[in-house]
Amino acid sequence: MVRTHNLGFPRIGAKRELKFALEAYWKGQSSLDELKALAADLRRRHWLDQAFLDLAPVGDFAFYDQVLDTSFMVGNLPQRVRELSGDPLDNYFRVARGRSAPAADEHARCRDGVAAGEMTKWFDTNYHYIVPEFGVDTEFRLDGSSLTDQVAEAMSNGVKAKPVIIGPVTYLAVGKTRDGSDKRALLPRLMPRLLPVYVELLEALARQGVEWVQIDEPILVTELDDAWQQAFAAAYQALNTGKIKLLLATYFGSLEENLPLVAELPVQGVHLDAVNAGHEVEPLVTRLPSDRVVSLGVVNGRNVWKTDLNAALDRLEPVARKLGDRLWIAPSCSLLHVPVDLEMETELDEEIKSWLAFARQKLEEVHLLATALNQGREAVQAGLRANQAAIQSRRLSQRVNNPAVKAALAGITEEMGRRVSAFAQRAAKQAQLLSLPKYPTTTIGSFPQTPEIRQVRSLSKAGKISEAVYKEAIHAEIARCVREQEALGLDVLVHGEAERNDMVEYFGEQLEGYAFSRFGWVQSYGSRCVKPPILFGDIRRPKAMTVEWITYAQALTEKPMKGMLTGPVTILNWSFVRDDQPRSVSCMQLALAIREEVLDLEQAGLKVIQIDEAALREGLPLREAQWKEYLDWAVQSFRITANGVADETQIHTHMCYSEFNDIIASIADMDADVITIESSRSDMELLEAFDDFNYPNGIGPGVYDIHSPNIPGREHIVDLLTKAAAKIPAERLWVNPDCGLKTRQWNEVLPALANMVAAAMVLRASLES
Ligand code: GLN
Ligand code: ZN
Repeated sequence: MVRTHNLGFPRIGAKRELKFALEAYWKGQSSLDELKALAADLRRRHWLDQAFLDLAPVGDFAFYDQVLDTSFMVGNLPQRVRELSGDPLDNYFRVARGRSAPAADEHARCRDGVAAGEMTKWFDTNYHYIVPEFGVDTEFRLDGSSLTDQVAEAMSNGVKAKPVIIGPVTYLAVGKTRDGSDKRALLPRLMPRLLPVYVELLEALARQGVEWVQIDEPILVTELDDAWQQAFAAAYQALNTGKIKLLLATYFGSLEENLPLVAELPVQGVHLDAVNAGHEVEPLVTRLPSDRVVSLGVVNGRNVWKTDLNAALDRLEPVARKLGDRLWIAPSCSLLHVPVDLEMETELDEEIKSWLAFARQKLEEVHLLATALNQGREAVQAGLRANQAAIQSRRLSQRVNNPAVKAALAGITEEMGRRVSAFAQRAAKQAQLLSLPKYPTTTIGSFPQTPEIRQVRSLSKAGKISEAVYKEAIHAEIARCVREQEALGLDVLVHGEAERNDMVEYFGEQLEGYAFSRFGWVQSYGSRCVKPPILFGDIRRPKAMTVEWITYAQALTEKPMKGMLTGPVTILNWSFVRDDQPRSVSCMQLALAIREEVLDLEQAGLKVIQIDEAALREGLPLREAQWKEYLDWAVQSFRITANGVADETQIHTHMCYSEFNDIIASIADMDADVITIESSRSDMELLEAFDDFNYPNGIGPGVYDIHSPNIPGREHIVDLLTKAAAKIPAERLWVNPDCGLKTRQWNEVLPALANMVAAAMVLRASLES
């Protein structure tokens, strides 16, 4: 019999229950016990949803992040929280976000919080994890209770529990050294200290009666040098205790040159991402010893399209005949990366809905596939027929294919992506037009999204207030933002993005070729979720999308107003995208649409236009060998979007990460006049990029960590800016926060920005003296 299982279920809840419970606790509006009770309830419900599987994941739940859970489980807490008293969960939140609930922080005497852990993207997803920190002195000590408690809880709920943990090699590989030194040098010291902790954990799980543990090693789909390859061999030798069975899970790509390594590891089963690595099923099966379980991830855990079940069966049937009981099937990766339940989408267009599957539906697909394999296709005839009809309808739909868009795409020329003059000439013209001070100050776009503003938007969406009332409310909020920015003395202003629920959804909603869910939330980090729009067809912009708000804002001030757009690569990377054409084609279609908006803004008199490419980096393929191809089309898409403007128009772009060094040449190639970029949390690490590469245009390394409620002091910002000024000349150095301010409160943002402006003044004064 083929068995079914799941690698992980979305933890946030179909109605984002976890988000709201976390935020209530952090605001001091509920107790830790209430939060823990809600979490237990969510876990129980999610296991119920998976009851028809042969094995359900346990330990995929996390209050904030599964990597941070692992850090706590192996006793790798940063020094700065070790001595703080109170519930371990409070310390966990402090590492995650700088602070916990006010009363807990008060009690632990850390009213001003601690430095939050660095956050970065989990492989090529839009999920962010808290980066583990290591040093030569790092020791590990097991605190497995959070996992073993969940296992006990699952078992008492009758769940066929398969604990899920992050493997030791991936755990070390996704961390960073505190002093910035090469991790590989630490590997020989850390691995021998870490492995006994894992062994101890596995033994504890075995004592609970666990048969299988899923051990995630997604790092195996990336290029590994000898040191890491050897680390794998050593680690799995040590973990092979004979007391418990290990299912080594790889996902997000293919194994390639790591396949022989994987096949030789002494584990009892291997999970392969058969969506991305379908071509490796056969070689893996051939190489694996004949007692190993092979788990095939045949349902895409990262996208929302229905699986073509007949096609999947065509591939699976021969494998099932060969493997018999040794074949398991599952989604390709954890379902953390898709929304929970399509059934909630009662307002979604029926035709488009018929093409989709969210987490619950994906597990039904897995179940149906297994039934067909175990009992023959006849046993699930109706299900297969319905699936085939949906697959056909999508393939043939007129709404997917628009000949006019295809023609526009064919008409793109190289020249459309080139500015008229080089940066130096443009910069001179822009300086004259804008007359900005040295170290000009600006923000990244959004201002706090107050409950009132959210309410206005949702009332308008529900048709409960008129267009005129809505417009007036947004105008009032824009006016407030402009007033506050003028009072702060910022140099380049923004309108504040009050009309936007989300920087991608806002544009997707106005473009043809996009569909929207109402509840399709996916966790981005901690309590934050995004609702990626669904790019299903050829893209066209029926009319201007932002011009009315931005021109309103510009009319309120003498200062330059920055038009605010989301770039094509980011729209693409933060959407669920088509799987029926290359990403590069979808991206270029988006580029043409946003280009029209850029030109409309310029036409309307805007002198500064920012095109956010927050997510450009996260689209990088996991294997470096494939980077160039991606960067070529991504950069070209940006250039097509941005570079049709006159010299005088200043183009900004913004990026949300500090690892900058390895793609700095491509970023320079985009040829934006100014780039603002995240960096304060990593202490201006990105400046190292400037040692080897002379970034030619304007740049604003973020000096205010907006992911934390902490307010940076003026002196701290002066320090950061002084570091930056040592590498970037005054006329090209901008002063700005790390990212948009929409998740913050006004009472945090105002003092923080006041300190930022004051810090810029200190630097200006130092130029004069
Ligand atoms: N302009 C956007 C904002 O300020 C950028 C957000 C982002 O980079 N993630 O909200
Ligand atoms: Zn950002």
